Amino acid sequence: MSIWSDIQAISAGEKIRKEDAFNEYIFRESCENTDLTKEEIQEIETALKNLHDIPWWYAPIRPQSFDNRFGHIVLISEERKKYLELYVQRHLLSDDKDKWDEEDVNILGSSRVLGEYRDGEITLYINSIKDVAMEGDVPLGVLGKSYLTVLRHVYLHELMHAFFDREGINIQKSYNRKSEEGFAEFGALLFLNQLVNTDPNRGPKDIHATKEELDWATGFVESKSGPLSCYAQGAVLFKQYGNDKSLCKKMLEAFPNSAEQ
Ligand SMILES: [Zn+2]
Repeated sequence: MSIWSDIQAISAGEKIRKEDAFNEYIFRESCENTDLTKEEIQEIETALKNLHDIPWWYAPIRPQSFDNRFGHIVLISEERKKYLELYVQRHLLSDDKDKWDEEDVNILGSSRVLGEYRDGEITLYINSIKDVAMEGDVPLGVLGKSYLTVLRHVYLHELMHAFFDREGINIQKSYNRKSEEGFAEFGALLFLNQLVNTDPNRGPKDIHATKEELDWATGFVESKSGPLSCYAQGAVLFKQYGNDKSLCKKMLEAFPNSAEQ
């Protein structure tokens, strides 16, 4: 393959530059501190790597300034974190516990944090992801395991935060949890929908999804309530605009800028 055809393939989203590729070394290193079996590590890595390194599937909804230079550091953690801890950690609850709304605290205390994005790193909380897969009616999906169905949705959600945090957009200044979480879910559902619509004869099976997976993810997003209802807005947006790809592209592209206004 000539250099020219290589460049063409990269710009068409068929290939990924070496430096932007999924960082297997860091991923595997984080797995060493877990009880995951070799087979699990392998299947998780394959699922994530294929999504990350074969970008053509998301090209139709890819916003203009979307490049591959993000989300290549993915870590696995066995920590079980609840939203309540995250809220306290991020000072989203006042210091005075007496002022906390009991119902909100109940919801936050029972809702798991499944993933986090921070400074170019995505952390996936594998035990919490497995807990969700065990409890809910989660389809096995094309990956053949319910925990991988959950994990993939969480990864796509965190990838959206990475996108909002891309170069040139200072999300730290503009981060508005209430709108960004909804847009992250919206983007994750759009990407999943794109996997459903991807030609099953193209590429590895990992970059396809079943309608059941999309329906589960939509219901999962929709079910978030109380202080987490901002997430559920993603399902509302998806149901309303999910089929208009050009509009979705514009919305995702414009979101961080419009949040600054
Ligand atoms: Zn999020």
